[in-house]
Amino acid sequence: MDKIYLKKGREESLLRFHPWVFSGAVAQIVGNPSEGDLVGVFSSSGDFLAEGHYQIGSIAVRILSFSADASKASFFEDRIRSAYSLRAAAGLAGSSETTCYRLVHGEGDFLPGLIIDWYDGVAVVQAHSVGMFRAKKRIADALKAVYGDSLKAVYDKSSGTAPFKAGLELIDGYLYKAEGFSSDEAVVLEGGNKFIVNWCEGQKTGFFLDQRDNRAAVGRLAAGRNVLNLFCYTGGFSIYALAGGAQHVDSVDSSSRAMELVDRNVALNGFAPERHTSVCADAIDFLKASPDGKYDLLIVDPPAFAKHRGALSNALRAYRRLNAAAIAKAAPGSFIFTFSCSQVVDKEAFALAVFSAAAETGRQVRILDRLCQPSDHAVNIYHPEGEYLKGLLLYVE
Ligand code: SAH
Repeated sequence: MDKIYLKKGREESLLRFHPWVFSGAVAQIVGNPSEGDLVGVFSSSGDFLAEGHYQIGSIAVRILSFSADASKASFFEDRIRSAYSLRAAAGLAGSSETTCYRLVHGEGDFLPGLIIDWYDGVAVVQAHSVGMFRAKKRIADALKAVYGDSLKAVYDKSSGTAPFKAGLELIDGYLYKAEGFSSDEAVVLEGGNKFIVNWCEGQKTGFFLDQRDNRAAVGRLAAGRNVLNLFCYTGGFSIYALAGGAQHVDSVDSSSRAMELVDRNVALNGFAPERHTSVCADAIDFLKASPDGKYDLLIVDPPAFAKHRGALSNALRAYRRLNAAAIAKAAPGSFIFTFSCSQVVDKEAFALAVFSAAAETGRQVRILDRLCQPSDHAVNIYHPEGEYLKGLLLYVE
């Protein structure tokens, strides 16, 4: 294994278990590692610190282990088994009400660069690093070992997430299929509601599992309400609102493919079609054109407006404008669930953008709850960067 020696004093963050080594901290590389190779990381005085995947770029090593076990044959199986145990303990794996969950959440499961989502027997793997991309066969084998016969397929969907490098064949496809398995989509249960998930054609791994708890919160407040679900994707919030007794739900997304799935999901759950309207449109245009006071429960869950720090101030302006429009349109006595999934926008900055939005409208607004990502999107306490989803439940007088 090649070795990376850090500059003097730069071992501090690793001693506190932060799982990244920045290239500026590297003093010397002994050997000639290829990107994605397992390397050992040592302090300037030669003490072993950690092992991880070598990368070219601002992060030089993503740490897999602080105890020299990353090269063990059972490494991925051990880590995935431990991720599974946590989901089982949290009441997700093995639940009869919920058959989909995030099994591996990168650094939150001590596997930086790896995402695995579970859809009732189908594991969808997304590698965000060359090291994880190169390990995908071992990862598929580990999934087989952990799940046994309940594993129906492993689908690799890394083409949009693994950093492009010459020599990597970035083509999505199945790493494993059990005999007789043939479909690219499945019906999963979340909180007792049915959803069609298509991991090949859908966004991300097929479904936004991170909104499970917040969807349930919408369901609890939806009875009798006229709901607007903006950026609805396949209608996660809409289905919970209908199940919770909403009078009517309008679901809006700019993706026509997503809107087709919303209609299928509404029908699949047996809701009367007149309780729901699908609108394929730009969410902001739709909101601005909607009559004042029409809706009394609004969900605002846009895509990440800032993908990197440089986009932060534009993103904050966009959150402010969007939320101001939602608050201005809300009927007196409305609930608004508003979110940001931009990792670089922290919860204080988001709350400030929403505060400015409220102030712009001049309406009385109270914060009833602060919302976040669920337990299967766990945040490693030594890697606060893993916290990305934040939201507020507002009450507008
Ligand atoms: N709330 C969803 C997830 C939202 S993801 C859920 O619970 O599953 C963000 C969605 O915004 C995507 O479906 C994307 O198609 C949609 N989108 C992006 N830009 C948009 C725009 N300008 N207007 C409407 N929808 C948009």
